[in-house]
Amino acid sequence: MANCPVCKSKLKLVTKKETGALAYLRCENQKTEKQGTNFVEVGKCKFKINFKSKLYDLKRDDMKNLLAGEKIKIKDGNILSLDLEKEMFTDIEFVDKYSEEDF
Ligand SMILES: [Zn+2]
Repeated sequence: MANCPVCKSKLKLVTKKETGALAYLRCENQKTEKQGTNFVEVGKCKFKINFKSKLYDLKRDDMKNLLAGEKIKIKDGNILSLDLEKEMFTDIEFVDKYSEEDF
């Protein structure tokens, strides 16, 4: 597995204990702490990418390719890519599903 693209530390693959389903990939320096009712990032690094969201459902290989800088095709033909400038560390390019013509 690749290293964290932000701080170059090790990455941890997190799965659900009960089902073994892929949950998220995080940097070993990423840490979330519950403060009151909020979850706050308290680690040295914030790198974390979920395998599943409303817009995509990634396989292990998709995540590897994403980290390698490849563009991943997700639901509706949209395209997911790694973008370290973004808060979620990913960028989604939305492909227009509709076409227009004069009526
Ligand atoms: Zn990191």
